Amino acid sequence: MAIDLSFSDTFAQRHIGPSDTEVDTMLDTLGYESLDALVDATIPDTIRTERPLTLPPAQTEEQVLDDAQSRGEKNDNWRSFIGMGYHGTLTPPVIQRNILEDPAWYTQYTPYQAEIAQGRLEALLNFQDMTIDLTGMEIANASLLDEGTAAAEAMLMLNRVDRRSDASTFLVAEDCHPQTIEIVKGRAEPVGIDVIVEDPENFVFGEDTFGCLLQYPTTDGAVRDYSTIAERAHENDAYVAVAADLLSLTLLEAPGEWGADAVLGSTQRFGVPMGYGGPHAAYFATRERFQRQVPGRMIGVTKDADGEMALRMALQTREQHIRRGRATSNICTAQVLLAVMASMYAVYHGPEGLKRIATRVHDLTKTLAEGLRRTGHSVRHDHFFDTLRVDLAETKQERIRERAEAHQMNLRYYDDGSVGVALDETVNAEDLDALFTVFGATNGQRLYADEVAADLDSGYEGPVARRTSYLDHPVFNKYHSEGELTRYMKSLAGKDLSLTHSMIPLGSCTMKLNPTAALMPISDPQFAKLHPFAPKEQAQGYQQVIEELSDQLTEITGFDDVSFQPNSGASGEYTGLLVIQAYHEAQGEGQRDVCLVPESAHGTNPASANMAGMDVVTVDCDDNGDVDLDDLREKAEANSDRLAALMVTYPSTHGVFEEHIEEICDTVHEHGGQVYLDGANLNAQVGLCRPREYGIDVCHLNLHKTFSIPHGGGGPGVGPVCTAEHLTPFLPGHPVVDTGGENGIPPIAAAPYGSALILLISWAYIKLLGPDGLTKASKTAILNANYVAEQLSSHYDIVYRGPNDRVAHEFILDLRPFRQELDVTEQDVAKRLMDYGFHAPTMSWPVVGTLMIEPTESESKAELDRLCRAFKSIRDEIAEVESGAVSVEESVLKQAPHTAEMVTATEWTQSYSRETAAYPAEWVRENKFWPTVRRVNDAFGDRNLFCACPPVDAYDADEEDELEAALDA
Ligand SMILES: *Cc1c(COP(=O)(O)O)cnc(C)c1O
Repeated sequence: MAIDLSFSDTFAQRHIGPSDTEVDTMLDTLGYESLDALVDATIPDTIRTERPLTLPPAQTEEQVLDDAQSRGEKNDNWRSFIGMGYHGTLTPPVIQRNILEDPAWYTQYTPYQAEIAQGRLEALLNFQDMTIDLTGMEIANASLLDEGTAAAEAMLMLNRVDRRSDASTFLVAEDCHPQTIEIVKGRAEPVGIDVIVEDPENFVFGEDTFGCLLQYPTTDGAVRDYSTIAERAHENDAYVAVAADLLSLTLLEAPGEWGADAVLGSTQRFGVPMGYGGPHAAYFATRERFQRQVPGRMIGVTKDADGEMALRMALQTREQHIRRGRATSNICTAQVLLAVMASMYAVYHGPEGLKRIATRVHDLTKTLAEGLRRTGHSVRHDHFFDTLRVDLAETKQERIRERAEAHQMNLRYYDDGSVGVALDETVNAEDLDALFTVFGATNGQRLYADEVAADLDSGYEGPVARRTSYLDHPVFNKYHSEGELTRYMKSLAGKDLSLTHSMIPLGSCTMKLNPTAALMPISDPQFAKLHPFAPKEQAQGYQQVIEELSDQLTEITGFDDVSFQPNSGASGEYTGLLVIQAYHEAQGEGQRDVCLVPESAHGTNPASANMAGMDVVTVDCDDNGDVDLDDLREKAEANSDRLAALMVTYPSTHGVFEEHIEEICDTVHEHGGQVYLDGANLNAQVGLCRPREYGIDVCHLNLHKTFSIPHGGGGPGVGPVCTAEHLTPFLPGHPVVDTGGENGIPPIAAAPYGSALILLISWAYIKLLGPDGLTKASKTAILNANYVAEQLSSHYDIVYRGPNDRVAHEFILDLRPFRQELDVTEQDVAKRLMDYGFHAPTMSWPVVGTLMIEPTESESKAELDRLCRAFKSIRDEIAEVESGAVSVEESVLKQAPHTAEMVTATEWTQSYSRETAAYPAEWVRENKFWPTVRRVNDAFGDRNLFCACPPVDAYDADEEDELEAALDA
């Protein structure tokens, strides 16, 4: 045999769980000769692609890391003093390593199962508490996608709560960040809101105006006292939204104190690298009376079955999957990991540390202002925090620019010839010296920052100086040493189940392996430190990665082009629909505004269609869970003149490859509509079929599902939109950076390429697997799902099956009969799984009373078998209730989950043993994961909504009344 000199270790072997022999064993149980035979039986022939992936062959981890590094070296890491909502920041290494780079944090799922998520829930509660304190508001969420979209959400919320039905004008102050203005305008249009961009000082609040947006400090740095504007707005029944810089609020009066009704902004500069645009978390705070209108997720305090305090996501019934057509926002995935980082930055520095940082940044700015004045320039605004707008004396902007470039500095260049400089905590005296040189001392003598500073007093002395305290809660005042913070972060991580413990079999969420090698490049400063508005010439490495990933994805999907702007799947849906609308308009068919959405669709689909101003018409599903073709034809026919789009998920949300997808597309096309694919679930398709080939016009992908960006406990996400050629011209543009199609829709995110930093992860993932590995991953995902379905089918019913009785990459387990007959619910099973060390599958979606299981290709046969054994054992526990051996109330199922405290208590009154409670399977003895609270009480929490850090005495209150009183106080 000839010698093979290629590397023996391919990454596909590491990514794909089952070995080749295990694959054969699993195929045996299913009765198939080969993986290909199984796939042929599962995916209808008509939609299989004839063209295998043409991508470069798989690379080793070492090679991919080298490639990433070489791309990074093509980025020029200049000093950026651009500001505009993005600032240099010093990520504390202890946070970088123990949150951002720790799989115990980044591989967590959204904290729907509160009992095994108390750690991140606490970190997010800290985030809310920090937001509430700094903004001076009553309630806050955790978290939103970015500042621009948070501003749009504020506008929409204020419009909803406005009691007048006809007020439809919203004022946006002209000195908001330009990308924010464009996003707000873009979001207003489809829902019929008129945005006026003006100086708020001169604005007359008429009857038609329901609100306004102010930037604090303004985009060019001015600190203004907005109290009279707020008063005028309120006198005229208009609400006030404020986009505020969080760090400045440590020195400036909280907007809540001068009348803001909603405050929002970015938390990027709290230790989260700029990353050429993201990901970062936005914050959102408002008045208590709007609590049911707040977009995104809110963490709340409640109690568990023992009356102990516990945290969970509050008001979950508001989530769009329950509200569907009436949903007010489509936010799901929303930057949780970054919110955790920002909250830890506040925990680490505490109130005094933050104030010191802010004061230093302000002092640097003061010094700069003074030096520039001495140089003969004038600083436009007397009162500023960290940003100056400089009106130049004699020198031309062009000259300053040349000198700045010679010093490798990016400044902000205004159209009127002035120059902007924004400072941050990374700036030092040498930077100021260099800035003085760039601005050219007119007296011919060099200026030194230290000398200028020597003549100045420290601290903020302008108007609206802050008088109130913040971050008084103990959590912000006791973990300031690295040792203490490390232990705090580890103690929180220890409460949370993640992929480091077991598989997380979440249907529709694809919790696959997040390859370490794919994640390493995001820590490279050559990528992490770039400002999103840095000139493209400085971001050649990024531009190359973006282009390469775009090529990879168009090859995989068959589409023409990609926009990476959307920061989540839902944001991708919204973008895709606007692109469709823009296309119809260009065709002279702007009247097309009906969106068909099958009843099985993910809740974000109808919510996004609403936001796009479309009328949602629901299409029925048949008994198989497939789109009901007759109903589709009827509704397409009935709305023929107005049909804009159909949103369809493939494979269906029920986990089957519908055989009629091409007919579905044809029907919509015949009536002039476009077909939108919710491609969040591409995991069974990569290398096997291409959405464009079976008739789709536009789709989004969830890179945080199929393409290995970690879930982060609920974000970051990337939801790129892929378009067919006729839709490409409408991909979103950006006011600051040239991107998008030639007739691009307005930006739908603050940064031109969205969360550019984490595009590296998907780029690396695709390179690591190569075309063969990617295709094998899809096939194995199908195998793993069918294997688990087969194992479980003798114990539970599988709700839907596709051709040849096969399921796709996920399937739905029916628990409804147990609820009807025995009062054993899907909740009980989900909570009992925790005692076995597992995270529950997706609960009650898309079918109420069921669990949807998606194993992914990354899980080994051993892990799949373990999950199956847990389910079988739980089925035996159900059988005990069935036979009458135990009553349902006394059953181990209703009592689950069990904490260490409960099973070690002196008293034990349960009908089953302590061993059954805590060690129901042999593997738990080796590696027990303990839920830290017992079953949480959602109803109590929603009745007593409390979304800040609870006062210390609430921790030992164990009666409902006491807890309520402690939280009320
Ligand atoms: C996850 C998912 C979405 C939403 O994606 P986000 O990133 O959470 O906004 C939409 N549709 C389907 C089918 C999904 O599984």
